[in-house]
Amino acid sequence: MNAVEPDVAKQPENLYEETKRIHPRTIRGTFRSIKWVVMVVLMAVWHVGPFIRWDRGAGAPDQAILIDMTGRRAYFFGIEIWPQEVYYITGLLLIAGLALFLMSAVAGRLWCGFLCFQTVYTDLFMLVERVVVGDRGKRISFDRRKWDLDKVARKTVILFLWALISLACGLGFCLFFGDAFTLLPQIFTGDAGAGVYTFLIIVGGGCFMMAGWGREQVCIYVCPYSRFQSAMFDEHSMIVAYEAWRGEPRGAARKNQSFEGRGHCIDCKACIAACPTGLDIRMGNQLACIGCALCIDACDQMMDRYKLPRGLISYDSIIAQEARAEGKVAKMRPFRSRTVIYAAMIAFIAGVMVYGLTFRSTMEVSILHERSPLYVQLGSGDFRNGYTYKVLNMVRQERRLALHAEGIQGIAVDVVGETVTEGKAKISADGDSVATFRVYATAPENELKSHATPFTFVLEDLDSGTIVRSTATFMGPDK
Ligand code: SF4
Ligand code: SF4
Repeated sequence: MNAVEPDVAKQPENLYEETKRIHPRTIRGTFRSIKWVVMVVLMAVWHVGPFIRWDRGAGAPDQAILIDMTGRRAYFFGIEIWPQEVYYITGLLLIAGLALFLMSAVAGRLWCGFLCFQTVYTDLFMLVERVVVGDRGKRISFDRRKWDLDKVARKTVILFLWALISLACGLGFCLFFGDAFTLLPQIFTGDAGAGVYTFLIIVGGGCFMMAGWGREQVCIYVCPYSRFQSAMFDEHSMIVAYEAWRGEPRGAARKNQSFEGRGHCIDCKACIAACPTGLDIRMGNQLACIGCALCIDACDQMMDRYKLPRGLISYDSIIAQEARAEGKVAKMRPFRSRTVIYAAMIAFIAGVMVYGLTFRSTMEVSILHERSPLYVQLGSGDFRNGYTYKVLNMVRQERRLALHAEGIQGIAVDVVGETVTEGKAKISADGDSVATFRVYATAPENELKSHATPFTFVLEDLDSGTIVRSTATFMGPDK
C-alpha cells in the first residue's frame, strides 16, 4: 500500500498560536460597580475574618472562624465541629456544590464572573497594572515597547505590588488555621511552623501565578467548571447574550444617523475591548465567557452615545431572546424542575444540619469489643467479656459519670482502676477530651441465649442527669 506523504511545503510553519496577552479596557457601569462591591466584601471576609473574636469561655480559643489542626477542632462562631462530626463538613461541601448548580441554572456563570477568587484577584492585579502603566492602549504599547529604564522600573513596581497582594492572600488563608493575633507576628519573626510557611508559599505563589500570569487561561484551560457548565444550563438560564436579531446587520455608524433598515451594533468592538477573556460575545455563548457582564456595560455606553435602547448585550435567556426576536413578550421562568430540585436538596441538607447541630448530644460513646480472647469463663462459671469504652466529653467541664449494663439478667460491670458502688462503676471524663476506659462485663452462663447476646451499656452524667445508652454484644460459647 502506498502511503500518502504529507506535503511539507504546504504545512504552516508554526502550528501553535502564541497566547496573546489580554488588556481589557476600563469600563464604568452597573456590573462593574457590582464587581467592585463584591471584591471589597470578599476581601474583607478573607482578611478581616481571622481577626473577629468570639467568646467561648475560659481555656477555649476566641477566634470566631478557626480550623485548629493541632486541637483537631473546627470553630465557626458558636458552632464547634469535632473530628467525629466530619459529616457536617461533607454537608457544607454538598450545599456549596448544589448552590453552584442552582446559581448556574438560574443565572449562568455568576460564580465565575463575580465571586470566584480567580476573577477577583485577576481584577485586582489588572487594577495594579492600570494604576502603574495606564489603561488598555497604554498597556498594549508598554508590552510591545523595548526594555528601557522606565519599563524596568514600572515592571518592578507591578511585580512588587502583585507580590504584596499574593502575600496578603496567603496570610489570609493561613490565619484561619491558628490564632491570628499570635500567628501573624510569628510568621514575620520566623517563629511559625514549617507547615505555615509551606502553605503561605503554596497559596501566595498560586495567587501570584494564576492571577498574574495565568488569568483567563486558568478559566479556559485549567478550571473544570467551564467544561461542564453547559450541562447546568437550559434555555431558561440567564446568560450574557447578544441580541443578534436587533444588532445585525452591524456596521460602523455616525452620531445621530438613522438606524432604519440596519442593526443597532455599530461594530465598535467596545465589548471585545472590555472583555477579560478577549471574547466577541456576538459570536454566541462560548466556553471562555465567564459571565462577568462587562461587555454589557461597554455596549450600554455605546447605546447611550447613539441614543439607542440599552440591552443589545444583556443578561437574558435563550427562550426570552427568541420571543423578543419574534416581537413577543419574554417570560422568565426561574422556578423550573431543576432549580426547584436543587433548592429543595439544599434546604433539606441545611435543615438536617441545623437540626443535628441544635439537638446534638454533648457526650458520645464508642465501644470496641476485645477480640482476643472474645470471652473467658471464670471459676464461678460466669462468662466475662472485655471492652474498650471511650467517652467523648464535648463540654469544657469535667463530668462525673456512672456506668452500668442492662439487658441480660445478672450482668455486672467493672471498670479497671475505678470503684463500683451499687452495681454502678464511678468514672470521670475531663472537659473537652476523650476518656478511655477498660471495661469488663460479667454475665451468668444460663442467661446467655446464644453465642452473641445483645445488651446495653448505660452511662449517666451524675450532675446533669444526661443518659447515653449504647448497644453492645456479649460473646459466649455456641448454644
Ligand atoms: S463575553 Fe462579556 S460576559 Fe463573557 S467574559 Fe467577556 S466581557 Fe465577560
Ligand atoms: S459594544 Fe455593542 S455596539 Fe459595539 S461592537 Fe459590541 S455589540 Fe456592537
